[in-house]
Amino acid sequence: MDPAQDFDLARAAHAALVGNHPVSAWDKELRNTVEQALAETHHREGRFVLLLTLPVAVLSLITDLLVAPGHLGEIAAVRLGLVVPLASVALLLPRQMLWLQKLLIAFSLTGFAFSMAFASLFVPSPSDAMLALGVVTLLALALPVLPFRGWALIGFVLLYLSVIGSFFLMNRGDVIQSNAFIAIMILAAGTATAIAHRVHWLERRNLLLTIEAGSRAATLEGSNARLIELSMEDPLTGLANRRRTKTVFAEHYAKTATAGRGDTALFMLDLDHFKAFNDRWGHQAGDSCLRAVAEVMRHTANRHGGLAARFGGEEFVILLNADDAAQAHAIAEDLRIAIERIEIEHNAGASTATCTASIGIALHQGPDTPVLEEMLSRADSALYRAKAEGRNRCSVAA
Ligand code: GH3
Ligand code: MG
Ligand code: MG
Repeated sequence: MDPAQDFDLARAAHAALVGNHPVSAWDKELRNTVEQALAETHHREGRFVLLLTLPVAVLSLITDLLVAPGHLGEIAAVRLGLVVPLASVALLLPRQMLWLQKLLIAFSLTGFAFSMAFASLFVPSPSDAMLALGVVTLLALALPVLPFRGWALIGFVLLYLSVIGSFFLMNRGDVIQSNAFIAIMILAAGTATAIAHRVHWLERRNLLLTIEAGSRAATLEGSNARLIELSMEDPLTGLANRRRTKTVFAEHYAKTATAGRGDTALFMLDLDHFKAFNDRWGHQAGDSCLRAVAEVMRHTANRHGGLAARFGGEEFVILLNADDAAQAHAIAEDLRIAIERIEIEHNAGASTATCTASIGIALHQGPDTPVLEEMLSRADSALYRAKAEGRNRCSVAA
């Protein structure tokens, strides 16, 4: 996801949080992201419930043995025949079939409750009423962690209560007709539904907070990276700035050394009489001139696998590969001529302005790593000589 999209998502999450908006009022992108995250959670929760249901279904046969030892066969048939196959199939389903998994979970849990109600047929009163209450207690305990939300939650509770309710109504009318049992059933199911609803509301809110924080962190990371880039870049020409020259030099030399290329050449370039250029053609024309010179330098650097940087004011540095001093001189000479040919538009008349540059060249030969400061200092001396000898020329350092 790109930082702009991240930022929009963070803003949408923030708006939903602050405004306490209902899900229907959320931004579509946000809704999709949350739905996707929830589907993951539901699948995980579903598998957890299923993994718990299977051993519990088997182990509760021990309770059956204690409560109704004479009818273990029938109870086991109902419990294992209903719960185990449904839960096993649901466990194998992939996330893409989440709806089917939820349906099977609903049926296997209802089946489990049904088997408890069925067991109550074989025990005398009041144990039957206790088993019936156990069924309701189980629902109340499990509901907040089940993977049902919204209408699915209400649907599951209704399915559960109607299956169990009808069973008791048909088979143990005495239990279901007890007002206390009905009251407890309604109260427990209602409270559990309300709590589950609240838990889900908090879950969504938590997701929104995570999205908001995560997206903000990503946006910040993006802006930080851009700020670092900007702090390394000259705003007028887009070339690397002085600060970046050191890194550029190290990176470049590491590449050159591993590629086994020729010598490293460093050009230090200074525009001639640039103060006078500004005075004559205006500062804006001066800026255009610097941009044009930078473009020519970028081109030269690219052609020779090198890098160009603006060192400050009207001083530039180029770092490139050259086979020997003669080639380095030839490249610098081409660059000098290309700069000489630049024509700058200005507001001070119909003609175009031109400029020239003096270039000092420092070369590094041999396998040892060159020291930037040392090369800069030699190139600077060569530049000084080029200026002294009349400007618009190249001079190679001794
Ligand atoms: P020399 O041939 O000896 O280098 O003379 P010079 O006039 O180029 O040297 P000096 O260092 O005295 O002047 C540099 C000038 O570069 C002064 C300054 O106005 C101009 N300059 C520096 N940065 C910028 C810039 O960003 N834009 C413009 N338009 N001019 C700049
Ligand atoms: Mg200068
Ligand atoms: Mg100058």
